[in-house]
Amino acid sequence: MQSLWNAREAAEFAGDLNQRVYSSRLLGRDKTLVMHGGGNTSVKVLTPDLFGREQQILYVKGSGWDLETILPQGFSPCKMDVLLALAMLSELSDIQMANELRTSMIDAGAPSPSVEAILHALIPHPFVDHTHADAIIAITNTPDGRRQIEEIYGDRMVIVPYVMPGFKLARRCAEAFEEQAHEGTQGMILLKHGIFTFGATAQESYERMIALVDEAERYLERHHAFMVEYPEVAPPAEAQRLPLAAFRHELSDTAGFPVIVASHNDIQALSFARRADVRQVAQQGPLTPDHVIRTKRLPLIGRDIAAYVEEYRAYFEAHQGRSATPLTMLDPAPRIVLDGDWGMLTIGRTAKEAAIAEDIYRHTIAVISRARAMQDYEALPAEDIFDVEYWDLEQAKLRAGGKAPVFTGEIALVTGAASGIGKACVESLLARGAAVVALDINPAIETLFKRPDYLGISCDLTDEAQITSAFEAAVRRYGGLDMLVLNAGIFPAGTPIAKLSLADWDKVLRINLDSNLVLLREAHPLLKLAPRGGRVVVIGSKNVPAPGPGAAAYSASKAAMTQLARVAALEWGEDGIRINTVHPNAVFDTGLWTPEVLENRARHYGLTVEQYKTNNVLKVEVTSRDVGELAAELCGPVFSRTTGAQIPIDGGNDRVI
Ligand code: ZN
Repeated sequence: MQSLWNAREAAEFAGDLNQRVYSSRLLGRDKTLVMHGGGNTSVKVLTPDLFGREQQILYVKGSGWDLETILPQGFSPCKMDVLLALAMLSELSDIQMANELRTSMIDAGAPSPSVEAILHALIPHPFVDHTHADAIIAITNTPDGRRQIEEIYGDRMVIVPYVMPGFKLARRCAEAFEEQAHEGTQGMILLKHGIFTFGATAQESYERMIALVDEAERYLERHHAFMVEYPEVAPPAEAQRLPLAAFRHELSDTAGFPVIVASHNDIQALSFARRADVRQVAQQGPLTPDHVIRTKRLPLIGRDIAAYVEEYRAYFEAHQGRSATPLTMLDPAPRIVLDGDWGMLTIGRTAKEAAIAEDIYRHTIAVISRARAMQDYEALPAEDIFDVEYWDLEQAKLRAGGKAPVFTGEIALVTGAASGIGKACVESLLARGAAVVALDINPAIETLFKRPDYLGISCDLTDEAQITSAFEAAVRRYGGLDMLVLNAGIFPAGTPIAKLSLADWDKVLRINLDSNLVLLREAHPLLKLAPRGGRVVVIGSKNVPAPGPGAAAYSASKAAMTQLARVAALEWGEDGIRINTVHPNAVFDTGLWTPEVLENRARHYGLTVEQYKTNNVLKVEVTSRDVGELAAELCGPVFSRTTGAQIPIDGGNDRVI
C-alpha cells in the first residue's frame, strides 16, 4: 500500500480543516481502505465563537458524505466540551446520542455527525483517521485474529474487542486507550471492525494509516494470503433474461417494492458462487457492522427465496425480545444472491444501492478468501449481527425514510435515445427514479450519461439479434423490464407517391414499424413479469390523424404502428400491461431541425421562425422535454387505468381537433 501524499497538492489546502479535507480524499481514493461512505475522519480546532470566546470544535465527517469527494462543509462541527461530557455518562441510548450529537453543532445547517463522533473526540490527538481496511479485517476476522494483530504490531496498537458501533463502543475505546496507550502508540485496532490512526498533522495521521495497513498486507503476503487467485470458470452460454426477470419479480414481491437486481458473472463472482464450501463461508455472516448495514445479513445461496424468508422470520422472532423497544421487521429480501449459474446478484432499491452492495460484497469475497488462506474466516457473532441490523439508529432511519421517486426500483428501455425526444424520455424517466437502458444506432449513446442507473447500448434495430442481445444486457444489468418507450424512427425527405420506390418505402417501414414488432414481441414476457405491471409508450405522430402530402411512407408506418399498439393493448390487458400512444407535432429542438432548415420552412409558409414554431391553437412551442414528460407520466399512476389511448401533444391542431 502506497502513500498518495503529494506535498505540492497538499500545499493548496491551507489550514487544518482543508488539510483534513485533502487527506480524507486520499483515503477515499483507495477502495481497499474505505468504500461508499464507510470510514470517517476528524480534526480538532480552536476557534472563537460569536462573543470572542475560544472554543474547541471537532470537525467530524458528516453522514451522507463520501471521503473521496468530501468538501469542508461535509464535516460536522461539534463542540468538544459537549462530546467529552457525553462520554462521561454511564449510559446513553443511540437515539439520544444521535440527538445530542446534532445539537452539539455550531452550524445548524451542517450534516448529522458520524455515530463515531464521541470516539473521535476521546482520542487525544488533533487528527484522527478511521477505516475498515480490507487487510486488517482479513486478519481480525480469523479465530486467531487478536494474536496475529499482536504479532504484527507488538504493543504499538491499542486493541479493542468487538463492540457494536455507538456509545458503548466509544466508552470501550476510551477505556482501552487509557489502559493500553503509551508514548509509542500509533493507532487502535477494533477487532472485526477496523483501524484508527492519529497524529499532530493530517499527513502524520494519514501516513500512519498507510504504513500500518501496509504492515498488515505484508503479513498476509508472507502467509500467502494476500493475492487471491480465482479459478478460471466459464459462465453459462444460454440466455438468462427470463429466469432472471422471474427471480426479480419474486424478490420484489418479497421486499414489497420493485428492486434492481444486477448480475455479475465474472471470474471472481462465479468462482466464489461455485465454491464447494460456499454455504459454509458465505453464510457465516458479514465482516463488520458497516457491511451488515449495507448488504443485510447473509447472502441467499441458490434461488429459494421462500426458504430464505422463512428462516429470516424465525430469526427475527427469536431475537426481537432482546430489544427494549418493539422492532419493525425490515423487508426480508436478501441483498446478495450467490448462484452457480448466475454468479453474484446484488440487489438494491436503486441501481446505486445495488452497485454499492456489489462493491462491498466483492471486498467481502476477497477478505473471506484471504482469511481462509490464512487460517479460517470468522464473521461477527450471530447475536451481534442482529443487534447491528436492528439497532435503534437503523430503525429510526426506517421510520424517517422519505418518499422515494415514483419509478424507484423500476427499469425502462428507450429506443432512439441519443437525441431529441428519445433523450428527453430518458431524462424524464431518470428524474422519476427509474434505471434506464437507452438504445441508439449512434455509439455516442454508450456515454450519454455516466451514472449507475443508466446503460447505453449501441444497437441497430433492424437486426433482430442485436435487439435480443440488448434485452439480455438490460436484464443482466438491472434484473428485468417495467417500461418500454418505442421512439426510434426516421423521417425521410418528402417524396410524392408517384415517385416513391419500394426500396425507400421498405426502409422506412423496417425501422418505424418492423423493428417495433420485434421489440414488442421480445419485451412481452419481460413486461409480464414487471412487479407493478408493464407499460409501453409509443411515440406516434400527428401524421396519424392528420397526414401530410409527400410523407406517405412515414405516415403509413406511424399509422400501422398505432394500430399495432391498439392490438397489443387488447392482447396484453390480461397480463397487466398498458400501452398508450402519443402523437407529437412540430417538435423542433431535435437533430432533424437545424436553424437553417427551420428558417427555410418558416419562409416557405410566410412566417417568422417564432410564428412557425408556435403555429397551433394554443400558440405554444412543443419541446422534446414536453413529450418526454408526457411519456413518463403515461407510465405513472395517473394513467394506471388507461390503455390503448392516443394522446396528441401538439399545442392543439385544427385538423386533429
Ligand atoms: Zn467504523
